[in-house]
Amino acid sequence: MPPLMRKHLTKAFPYVPGRPIEEVQREFGLRDVVKLASNENPLGPSPKALKAIRKHARNSHRYPDGDATELRRALAQKHGVRPEQIIVGAGTDDLNTFIMTAYAGPGRSLVTSLGSFIRYEQTAIVSGAGVKNVPFKNWRHDIDALLAAIGPKTGALCVANPDNPVGCMITKPEADRLVRGAPNRVFVLLDEAYCEYCAANPSYPDSLSYVKKRDNVMVTRTFSKAYGLAGLRIGYGISSAQVIETLNRTRPPFNAARLSQEAALAALEDDEHVEKVLSLNEEGKAYFEAEYERLGLECIKSYANFISVDTRRDAEAVFQALLRRGVIVRPLGGCRMPTWLRISIGLPRENRKCVRALEAALREVPEKQV
Ligand SMILES: *Cc1c(COP(=O)(O)O)cnc(C)c1O
Repeated sequence: MPPLMRKHLTKAFPYVPGRPIEEVQREFGLRDVVKLASNENPLGPSPKALKAIRKHARNSHRYPDGDATELRRALAQKHGVRPEQIIVGAGTDDLNTFIMTAYAGPGRSLVTSLGSFIRYEQTAIVSGAGVKNVPFKNWRHDIDALLAAIGPKTGALCVANPDNPVGCMITKPEADRLVRGAPNRVFVLLDEAYCEYCAANPSYPDSLSYVKKRDNVMVTRTFSKAYGLAGLRIGYGISSAQVIETLNRTRPPFNAARLSQEAALAALEDDEHVEKVLSLNEEGKAYFEAEYERLGLECIKSYANFISVDTRRDAEAVFQALLRRGVIVRPLGGCRMPTWLRISIGLPRENRKCVRALEAALREVPEKQV
């Protein structure tokens, strides 16, 4: 007999990550496999980050600085806040666990958008909390419905801006309304994992202004996307010193690895690399948009480094047909979008290979009658 699992975990479910390149190479006997499944940075890390990793590798026998002092100092300077307002995580996903432990849990609930980033829901369920899912409206966060879903038991409200997997953006007036409408007792997360990709958009909110005005708002940012350090697992949150103090009560002592902290510090110094990443992404986005239009496929306007597209077919079958052709993408059945794929924007060569494979897969998989 296995030991008795806590009952609330019957509602929990493991995260299904994108298939690793090596596994697909082995399974299908393919040499050239491209992965456009996890919104990773196709250009890789900044050369400055790579240099820092090599330099600090020899100190790997030492525990990291548990308080990430240098990195928090650099981030505080960059964002015009105090170091006490910053917490560093093993990826921002690490922070979701702290957030739910501190502000959700048994007897409380999370409010989020249905079909949005699944990790808010997963970490809330594991903490023992309930979840109120609010449907998107025209593939955008429905601000009024999110606010209306807040009840006496709501502990946290989480939105991603831009969203993943939908790719939509919450505008400044909408973000103003959301932050103003949420009661002070509710923790509000603005997850800005993809903010670099739309920072130049005049409608994108200056979310740090909310942190400066309110004690209950946290903005999270990551080194996994525009900075190309997903494999090192490092990200951070900015909030009031009170929220950071609370989250630190739940944080394990050495959660952010030494080489990750060093690489992040170096990556912050390389704006040029980020610029390259952003212009490559714009070019790739325009290419995919034009190709989807040519193929007569509906896609959702994306403000990030991926596009979600309606194949009008069983997306799982299209996903399999693409795998056989050496292209890994993300079917969105788990987000209640059974005919949709999310495809990350890669290098030009990878994008072209993906479109060629998609054309063949669309011929192979019959269209669904709806
Ligand atoms: C990729 C992503 C993150 C970043 O996760 P890390 O743990 O920092 O790698 C956070 N939120 C969303 C919505 C994402 O898509």
